[in-house]
Amino acid sequence: MAYNCSKCPGYCCSYPLIALNRRDVERLARHFDLSFEEARRKFTKVDGEEQYAMRRKADEHYGKICRFFDTDKRCCTIYHARPTICRQYPGDNHCGYYEFLKHERLAQGDEEHVASTWNA
Ligand code: SF4
Ligand code: SF4
Repeated sequence: MAYNCSKCPGYCCSYPLIALNRRDVERLARHFDLSFEEARRKFTKVDGEEQYAMRRKADEHYGKICRFFDTDKRCCTIYHARPTICRQYPGDNHCGYYEFLKHERLAQGDEEHVASTWNA
């Protein structure tokens, strides 16, 4: 594996659109012992064509991030109930952000540096 999520501040969880499918919402409902409707309302919103877009919250590094992201520990709080798209990402053995992060950390001599693609 050419990337290590445990050393990454969670860039992929800050994507503007995290699209869930109906089964993902059902899984979240089961995980939190809620009805489908309760989970849908609480965790998702309609975004354009997407019926179940993940709700997001503020993040000091990336502006906004998934509502289930722990912004102190920088990890997912629902790992075993996470949506399909999160299980599939990044899809192969490479993560473009991780390459960028490694490069920036080396260049800055700071192993904790959080590389962002925007200016806060
Ligand atoms: S951006 Fe890449 S390295 Fe970081 S958590 Fe996501 S998949 Fe892992
Ligand atoms: S559900 Fe977990 S893995 Fe998926 S975007 Fe949210 S915090 Fe990241």
